[in-house]
Amino acid sequence: MYKADDKRYDNMLYRWSGKSGLKLPLISLGLWHNFGGIDSYEKGRELIRTAFDSGITHFDLANNYGPPAGSAEEMFGRLLQSDLAPYRDELLISTKAGYYMWPGPYGEWGSKKSLTASIDQSLRRMNLDYVDIFYHHRPDPNTPLEETMSALDGIVRQGKALYVGLSNYKPEETRQASRILKALGTPCLIHQPSYSMLNRTIEAGLLDVLEEEGIGSIVFAPLQHGILSDRYLNGIAADSRAAGPSPFLKPQDISEERLEKVRRLTDLANARGQKLAQMALAWVLRRGRVTSALIGASKISHIEDAVEAVSGLEFSEEELAAIDSILA
Ligand code: NDP
Repeated sequence: MYKADDKRYDNMLYRWSGKSGLKLPLISLGLWHNFGGIDSYEKGRELIRTAFDSGITHFDLANNYGPPAGSAEEMFGRLLQSDLAPYRDELLISTKAGYYMWPGPYGEWGSKKSLTASIDQSLRRMNLDYVDIFYHHRPDPNTPLEETMSALDGIVRQGKALYVGLSNYKPEETRQASRILKALGTPCLIHQPSYSMLNRTIEAGLLDVLEEEGIGSIVFAPLQHGILSDRYLNGIAADSRAAGPSPFLKPQDISEERLEKVRRLTDLANARGQKLAQMALAWVLRRGRVTSALIGASKISHIEDAVEAVSGLEFSEEELAAIDSILA
């Protein structure tokens, strides 16, 4: 019988998501990789329990996470039943719909038909009455924004989600969607974009829109899928993501030029008393503009590193300038 650590809230910090009343942990755990049907259930269970025992209250899923698609939600549902059910009110569980999930015209994108069917499937897989956050996973150029936002609003009104979020929406799309959602009475809680020292796109507009609209942000891939850590400094290990089939991290992404930057960033992190992975997380959370850093993990030490990063969020101007110059 699992009993959560009594000290789980001692070290984690929490930030309000935009202008909402909901706080997110500075570190959240995503189940995109390493929690599917092809992975060890016991290992995933240990990772999630470690996270929750460290004050990580937020777990991020999507209909298609696995592989196979849907199996990460099934895994999480099983774990809820065996371990986490008594803690449901301490958990923030999110899921998403928008990417390909089932065949035919309704298995992806942003129609009301698709989103309504998908949330029902997700709730069944996780054996939940509601999720805390339901996201539209990517903008749909062929469905009126009003239809997609009205579907999200309807899902909240039916009690199937408490809040809604947007992911991968560009700044102007976000502003328009946010205005529609506000008019419907279901303000957008949060946006989920990618952000890391190697990918700073959201600094050119999106973060400003989120502040103007009062929307929080949870940034995915803050370690650039593992590149911003010591994971690849000694080659591509057989158990690493780059050695697997992921189209988002291939061996050619680990170029010698990139590794040289990673080595220099590592020296800088060490001089701050951190590992590079920790500095990379602190960096996305610097100055309070981002609500939460959404990490992935394949080892317990990855979660421990991330939790520890929360106690080292300060940067001097010199350190920030040195990071910019290494990455320039
Ligand atoms: P990260 O950039 O945090 O990469 C995580 C990977 O980095 C781990 O799986 C591990 O790689 C490696 N790693 C983590 N910590 C350490 C450490 N301390 N030392 C060394 N290596 C480390 O994020 P992800 O790419 O995993 O994405 C995180 C989450 O974001 C997803 O689970 C998902 O919830 C969300 N996401 C959302 C998207 C969207 O479109 N909305 C798109 C992509 C992700 P390894 O497994 O090789 O050990």
